[in-house]
Amino acid sequence: MTGNILVVEDEVDIQEIVSYNLEKAGFAVAAVDSGEAALESIRKELPDLVVLDLMLPGMDGLEVCRLLKQDTATRDLPILMLTARAEEVDRVVGLELGADDYVIKPFSARELTLRIQAILRRLADGRDSATAETDPEAMRFGPLTIDKAAHRVTVNGDVLALTSTEFSLLATLAERRGRVQSREELLNTVWGYEYAGYGRTVDTHIRRLREKLGGAGELVETVRGVGYRFIGD
Ligand code: CA
Repeated sequence: MTGNILVVEDEVDIQEIVSYNLEKAGFAVAAVDSGEAALESIRKELPDLVVLDLMLPGMDGLEVCRLLKQDTATRDLPILMLTARAEEVDRVVGLELGADDYVIKPFSARELTLRIQAILRRLADGRDSATAETDPEAMRFGPLTIDKAAHRVTVNGDVLALTSTEFSLLATLAERRGRVQSREELLNTVWGYEYAGYGRTVDTHIRRLREKLGGAGELVETVRGVGYRFIGD
């Protein structure tokens, strides 16, 4: 898999390790050490994905993410956030349009590379099949429509702004409706890789997804101690 990746990280060691490993995996990598420099670089040339550290001097990663998601020219740019603590995860995922994914430091280079490849693959799948019309084959559950071909979710006709991760999570649950999905199964399918200790990732994304779905969020049921189940038919 190829693509241009911008790494935004002020810690030199981490910036170098990340850049080195992504280049080794076949990506073209540019690196900057501040949010301001990141915005300038992105305005000049739009990368395919941004690896964005949360803690930066001056403008922090959340602010950079917010600005990128606000601007129509950059709102679809996938962002993978680097966070130092698990407690920061809710803030990262809870952004209005949200980072597409995150990893918690310390992370392995392999994990980061796999996450990036998974995001870009999901995006490519969505783009290949994108159409303007709602597919007659789209899944419908009361007010909720999930159109996999157009990569679009609507509630009462209003298009929801879901991240690629949220879309994939919802589509997976709906396709397996009536059956309980464990966190591990969802990680495997949606994230494309099983990350030990990342069950919380699923919970955080589900919570955010339910908020965006509004009343239709009731279709995603929590099965205590096991996982989640989509209850539409
Ligand atoms: Ca930092």
